[in-house]
Amino acid sequence: MANNDDHFKNVISHAKEYGYIFGSSEIYDGLSAVYDYGQNGVELKKNIREYWWRSMVYMHQNIVGLDASILMHPTTWKASGHVDAFNDPLIDNKDSKKRYRADVLIEEYAEKLEQKAQKEIAKAKKRFGDDFDEEQFVTTHPRVVRYRTEQKEILQRMARSLEAEDLADVKALIEELEIADPISGSREWTDVRQFNLMFGTKLGASADSATQLYLRPETAQGIFVNFLNVQKTGRMKIPFGIAQTGKAFRNEIVARQFIFRMREFEQMEMQFFVRPGEELKWYEYWKETRLKWHLSLGLGEENYRFHDHEKLAHYANAAADIEFNFPFGFKELEGIHSRTDFDLKAHEEHSGKKLQFFDPELKESYVPYVVETSIGLDRMFLAVLSNALQEETLEDGNTRTVMKIPSILAPVKAAIFPLLKKDGLPEIAEEIVELLKWDYNVLYDEKDAVGRRYRRQDAAGTPYCITVDHQTKEDRTVTLRDRDTMEQERIAIEDLPQRLRKSISFQSWLTT
Ligand code: ATP
Repeated sequence: MANNDDHFKNVISHAKEYGYIFGSSEIYDGLSAVYDYGQNGVELKKNIREYWWRSMVYMHQNIVGLDASILMHPTTWKASGHVDAFNDPLIDNKDSKKRYRADVLIEEYAEKLEQKAQKEIAKAKKRFGDDFDEEQFVTTHPRVVRYRTEQKEILQRMARSLEAEDLADVKALIEELEIADPISGSREWTDVRQFNLMFGTKLGASADSATQLYLRPETAQGIFVNFLNVQKTGRMKIPFGIAQTGKAFRNEIVARQFIFRMREFEQMEMQFFVRPGEELKWYEYWKETRLKWHLSLGLGEENYRFHDHEKLAHYANAAADIEFNFPFGFKELEGIHSRTDFDLKAHEEHSGKKLQFFDPELKESYVPYVVETSIGLDRMFLAVLSNALQEETLEDGNTRTVMKIPSILAPVKAAIFPLLKKDGLPEIAEEIVELLKWDYNVLYDEKDAVGRRYRRQDAAGTPYCITVDHQTKEDRTVTLRDRDTMEQERIAIEDLPQRLRKSISFQSWLTT
């Protein structure tokens, strides 16, 4: 098994080689942290989006969709707090001239302490076998207790300092912990400064009268400002949700991890409007529901964990991340936030319009509370891709590269091959393409030996290959080859749609 760095490098080069992801404007040497999705990438991305949309919107009678624009009235961002507070604390290393997020440097230090604790736990588990009582061990073992306490204290102190805008203390913490630049090892740091992440742009032709606009840094505000439009026209009753997918833009300080942190990316967000006082119940509900959605894809339960926030954003009274085990470790994939009535209230104040709901049961009007689920589509893409790519050693000692993308998400569902380019086999293969193309994205391939064609589809992530051979002419059956098991079954052409539906349906995936 390749180590994690190598694996990540393989994922990046494989993504390019198989038409998933290209650097943006590559012929001009690219634009940092901006990427394009190729012929396979666009399909995978669309399928992830669809998988999310169906589970959120179609599976919940009280959730509807929205598509708000990227440009919004600039007061939106004043009200939401983004103009004043959408900042990251940045710090530069004087020797390497590299720029870092101060909070990330500290979080990584804290994560190392957690890894040390985990090592102790794993060692003890091995030593004590079945008698191991983890609960007791982590509360009594001196080193584990020390690592965990230290970790908590560090994160709490950072949270306090950031909250109080005490950037000098954030720097002091970095110095006290003797955190070094991960690249150069140097401990010569500049002061910590705040940096606003919003991209600005101008509306209007003349420089004098142009209005300052922003490219939205999150899709959520488009939902808040449309809250009453949707509630009234959709006759929605609380609790209800509004879901939206779309581009967001952030001028990230450090963007070095491929599509994990991009400057232009896509979010899939849902804001769930609830009665004040019921938000924490719904927060728990959505934490569980969203984790279930992730687990339904089968990327491995052990690859997910919750991370409860110590430092709450200015709008939240509870927040957790669903973290995924990326090739570079566990990192945030999705956020679930109890946002209180902060946003709607702020928009009421800044717009002078009421954004309230009349609750027929309580016979009173109120500003609803909001629970948000927010996942990055591109990060989800990276989770799927990095989990799927494998080098397998086969029984005969050969190796194969295979991408075990969940079939419901795979860009191409089936590749259809005539065994030979003659004897009427291509015509039958074309017939199968005609039969399946209404429901699935399928591909016809007649080039090279069939074994090579199988390997090509394994590496591209296609779950099924259908081969037409001479027997097909006699009995109208074909072979259906499974990407993961490499097993082949003989199946009648007319049974193919039903057979594929069995393993590639939203219903079967979303209910597992
Ligand atoms: P981080 O701490 O990693 O910067 P965040 O907490 O700022 O993320 P949110 O504002 O909660 O992120 O955004 C919700 C989701 O949007 C994240 O969970 C992530 O999946 C995605 N996301 C945020 N920033 C980026 C980015 N620069 N590139 C790709 N996806 C992103």
